[in-house]
Amino acid sequence: MILHVKKNAPLQELRDFYQATSFTTDTHEVLVTSSSIKAFDEKHADFILFSQALSSDIQLASSEYLNTLREVKIGNEITIGGDSKNTLMITGPCSVESEEQIEMSAKYCVEQGVKVLRAGCYKPRTSPYTFQGLGQKGLILLARMRDKYGLKIITEAKDSTHIDEVIEYSDIIQIGAKAMYDHGILKACAKSRKPILLKRGFGSTLQEFVQSAEFILSGGNPNVILCERGIRTFETKTRFSLDLCGVAYLKEHTNLPIILDPSHAMGYSYGVADLARACVAMGIDGLLIETHPDPSVAKSDASQQLNFEQFDALHTSLKPIANAVGMQII
Ligand code: PEP
Ligand code: MN
Repeated sequence: MILHVKKNAPLQELRDFYQATSFTTDTHEVLVTSSSIKAFDEKHADFILFSQALSSDIQLASSEYLNTLREVKIGNEITIGGDSKNTLMITGPCSVESEEQIEMSAKYCVEQGVKVLRAGCYKPRTSPYTFQGLGQKGLILLARMRDKYGLKIITEAKDSTHIDEVIEYSDIIQIGAKAMYDHGILKACAKSRKPILLKRGFGSTLQEFVQSAEFILSGGNPNVILCERGIRTFETKTRFSLDLCGVAYLKEHTNLPIILDPSHAMGYSYGVADLARACVAMGIDGLLIETHPDPSVAKSDASQQLNFEQFDALHTSLKPIANAVGMQII
């Protein structure tokens, strides 16, 4: 159950009574209890401005609670969700590898009119014997690209040891698929007010995915963006299976903007453009596409990254598709 209570309510008492989490807005306090609680106690009636019982622990994120798409701002200039009808293009390499490589990517973003550069510095690799990312050196390089080229930066946190650093350096914090359940990360992101791109764990149900988002929302950060990046199925010919049915579910039942990542779902560059066009046709809020100045030498995810020529062709082809569903690529 969601309760909006007056600012002068005995918050600690209410929190204990309902075993609720809470956060403050400009006008009131929001308490969220387990969805198994269906009504408040009459003795608290004087403090309660609004109450709603929800059918599951998808509560703050649900369209039952908020029947409009939440707006998320990236800095002052970029808006997704709300009434914006924007599909935000995000591109860049899987990993920051060197200053030269990330600068080529940053320049390419500017040339393409792409406003958000992505690249990982703390890579959640499956093998300990592969490139693990440049760590803080990479963050510093990304910050340099932001300052030099006026881009926004998105980079991922893979565990809570470096989450504060990632929050400090980035404009959007990406929570990697393998980190979707990391409560150190979720808690730190809940305290921040920066936009959080939460990737779906590849073995997670939609319920579990949105419940992870609830940890951030119920901690007081409303700027959550969901990211579908493929789930594991019985199929092995592609890296993962992009769950577009899941996207339809999320659009219908949640109030959070959705960004799709066909690169990690497909795992091979040859399928990325077709998938990206299918994603944009669903009227989504953004697209994350991995690109590299020379994918053949990429230190991570080499097989799926597009070269600049391939991205250029894809980018051009997306604009009329977005327009056809009432959206615009920004
Ligand atoms: C990435 O974005 O480079 C990445 C590692 O993604 P995921 O967490 O979806 O595997
Ligand atoms: Mn990658």
